[in-house]
Amino acid sequence: MLRWHGREAGTGEAIVRDVDLVVLAMGFLHADHQGAADQLGLEVGATGDIQVEPEGKTGVPGVFVTGDAALGASLVVRAIQTGRQTAKAVDGFLVG
Ligand SMILES: Cc1cc2nc3c(=O)[nH]c(=O)nc-3n(C[C@H](O)[C@H](O)[C@H](O)COP(=O)(O)OP(=O)(O)OC[C@H]3O[C@@H](n4cnc5c(N)ncnc54)[C@H](O)[C@@H]3O)c2cc1C
Repeated sequence: MLRWHGREAGTGEAIVRDVDLVVLAMGFLHADHQGAADQLGLEVGATGDIQVEPEGKTGVPGVFVTGDAALGASLVVRAIQTGRQTAKAVDGFLVG
């Protein structure tokens, strides 16, 4: 048995309940990268993702973006996969 402290949706009124289980269903919120994107002059799409070519290249030469910042809220495996692709592209940019 757990004692759960929460708030009523809508009214915000404090509530306390004795429960057997608490399931947190928070969903995924978008990363707030507007400050960095603005400072670097990166293009941000309507969904809040930084716009990139498939290997993470942005419209600003020498600036690469990968993972959730480019994909939006996604999965660890996709962040790893795109991170590897982008690392190769960065290597190509630096080494030629
Ligand atoms: C609540 C929640 C549950 C999730 N559950 C799952 C799951 O069960 N399975 C799954 O596959 N995926 C899950 N995900 C998604 C997964 O966590 C992400 O897809 C993954 O972490 C993205 O990796 P990333 O490297 O792109 O970004 P992140 O892991 O977010 O890493 C970005 C890093 O950049 C740092 N950073 C940000 N701004 C700056 C700055 N200005 N300067 C320096 N550093 C900075 C941050 O501190 C952070 O360490 C979940 C996500 C959330 C939010």
